[in-house]
Amino acid sequence: MQTVQAIRFHHTGGPEVLCWENVDLGEPGSGQVRVRHAAVGLNFIDTYHRTGLYPLPLPSGIGLEGAGVVEAVGEGVTQFRAGDRVAYAGGPVGAYSEARCMPVAPLLKLPENIDFRTGAAMMLQGLTAAYLLRKTYRVQAGDAVLIHAAAGGVGLIACQWAKALGATVIGTTSTEAKAELARAHGADHVIFYNREDVAKRVREITGGEGVAVVYDGVGKDTFMGSLDSLRVRGTMVSFGNASGPVAPFDPLLLSQKGSLFITRPTLAHHTAKREELEELGGELFAMVGGGKVKIEVNQTYALRDAAQAHRDLEARRTTGSTILLP
Ligand code: NDP
Repeated sequence: MQTVQAIRFHHTGGPEVLCWENVDLGEPGSGQVRVRHAAVGLNFIDTYHRTGLYPLPLPSGIGLEGAGVVEAVGEGVTQFRAGDRVAYAGGPVGAYSEARCMPVAPLLKLPENIDFRTGAAMMLQGLTAAYLLRKTYRVQAGDAVLIHAAAGGVGLIACQWAKALGATVIGTTSTEAKAELARAHGADHVIFYNREDVAKRVREITGGEGVAVVYDGVGKDTFMGSLDSLRVRGTMVSFGNASGPVAPFDPLLLSQKGSLFITRPTLAHHTAKREELEELGGELFAMVGGGKVKIEVNQTYALRDAAQAHRDLEARRTTGSTILLP
């Protein structure tokens, strides 16, 4: 049996719980393929798995995103062959590995004009931007939209995409350098949410009206300011917890603040059906392949140094996308 090296963890906790271990690879089972990773994607959700905010049975692998080549296919697999270039975002966890056997469900063939590193960097954050902007609230030309953590992985992609759809893009971030980056990727206005009143600035920018939609992956620290930034009947999309989970709130607030809509979506529910995954993937590949969305791979680590990548992500030292190289 082949052995590969992978990051695993036996206890939840800080980045130090991530161990570099030998893992038996085996042959792909029914409905599975074996993928040799050229690159693996780092995502904030990986830190939620590591800390136990999103609990997993332990010990566990980690990671939901990768790109590479199919080495072998299991019984019943007809849509992929050995040698195919593929990329994926989705479960089960275990992407932080040199190679793995996995179900075909999340796999897409990677177009020839997209390299493996870009593929590994863009699938999870890019499919997320795709469903947020195209499904959760369908952004229209002329909409004002607020995108938190605009210089982050999802943020930089969402800013470019929203701009390409004709929106007025308001981004938030914590430093001048990140603000510059957000502006260079489609943000028309940038608010420093660590020192400015977000809702007040949004009202100034939108002539008092507020934005049509807020995309909020920051969670605890931004939630109330997000509700206060919306126009009447605007949509609050709470899709992450980078600063911690949102506290329970009274739905009556939604009435008081303007008959607001709120949703707490997740990528898995937008890609569970093959046709939905292919539709979103097709849109993403077209945006990236056509140059409308540039994937910024701003940090690269050796896969075995995943703990350091987690430290940097959680300390807000990263921008754009990050990949781990086996
Ligand atoms: P990012 O690259 O955006 O990194 C997180 C960023 O959040 C930081 O760089 C930082 O930017 C900002 N931030 C604000 N407060 C904090 C804090 N207290 N600690 C750490 N960071 C903070 O990560 P991703 O692009 O991977 O993910 C963004 C969010 O989207 C996450 O919450 C993630 O869980 C969520 N997500 C949800 C999905 C879904 O389907 N529901 C799918 C994919 C991602 P700054 O310095 O500018 O404040």
